[in-house]
Amino acid sequence: QACKNKHSACLEYSSELNTFSVERLQTLSELKDIVSSNQLSLYFQPKLCLASKEITNVECLARWIHPDRGFIPPDDFIPLAEQSGAIRQITQWAIETAICQHRDWYKQGMDLKMAVNISAIDLADPDFAKIVVGLLTKHHVEPHKLILEVTESAVMSDTEVALQTLNLLSKIGIGISIDDFGTGFSSMAQLKKLPVNELKIDKAFVLEMATSVDDQAMVKTLISLANNLGLHTVAEGVEDLAALNLLEEMGCTYAQGYFISRPMPPSDASKWLLQKTRDVTKACHEA
Ligand code: C2E
Ligand code: MG
Ligand code: MG
Ligand code: MG
Repeated sequence: QACKNKHSACLEYSSELNTFSVERLQTLSELKDIVSSNQLSLYFQPKLCLASKEITNVECLARWIHPDRGFIPPDDFIPLAEQSGAIRQITQWAIETAICQHRDWYKQGMDLKMAVNISAIDLADPDFAKIVVGLLTKHHVEPHKLILEVTESAVMSDTEVALQTLNLLSKIGIGISIDDFGTGFSSMAQLKKLPVNELKIDKAFVLEMATSVDDQAMVKTLISLANNLGLHTVAEGVEDLAALNLLEEMGCTYAQGYFISRPMPPSDASKWLLQKTRDVTKACHEA
């Protein structure tokens, strides 16, 4: 009996492993031509400037709209794409799509900085900076309209190539933002070495800051650290007015989160942004 149990446990285990592998292999093979399959979509989430109450920056977030599996969030495919190398294509697609969207909105009278997420794999590519410059040139967009968001852990991997790439991008005028800041144990010494413009405080500290004294202390400390280093701050995960007010008091530069807006597909984002611009203009005239 014991033996039989052991056997069936073993069978279960391996069949589970197989299903997992099949699905994984299928996903990996689909990721290979993900860009040409036209299944990727870029969503846009505004960052609110707390001093001016204007929207000057927008983050671009990838979505995979799969014909059979539906909506697949980035956390479910970006790590796989990083393992398979497909991330390079995805990053180029995201940057080019963001640049084109900037042009589009510019023609409608809105001048927005576009923040695109990149991964450690991109930074390790010695040609990456050249590729980005090529895309900006192709679409006649100035480098300072582009911000690249790199996670704290990606940037702290501390390879020579990654540092060179970051320095190149920054010299050209592209903004560098450290994403998920506060989750990766960077040292001040490491931070000082990097050509960074902005720190994004991870939503883990922001989501419940209105009710958690510890989270509040953490956010406050990160903002004053950034201020002392001359860096902008973005708080992500702002879900209520209380958090927004606290962040403004603490001198945070930008707020981003569901309280302001969820990430939106291009058509909704256009409508939302145009409306916002009208509201701000109206408020200025009334003042
Ligand atoms: P991230 O760059 O830190 O983005 C923030 C995530 O928090 C986004 O999830 C966003 O939708 C979500 N979020 C925004 N506001 C709120 C809020 O108020 N409350 C809560 N609970 N969540 C909020 P998303 O879009 O699922 O993206 C997850 C991660 O996937 C991103 O984290 C980023 O690291 C990665 N990612 C997304 N698009 C790309 C891409 O094009 N390339 C790369 N390399 N990574 C990407
Ligand atoms: Mg980001
Ligand atoms: Mg983040
Ligand atoms: Mg994140």
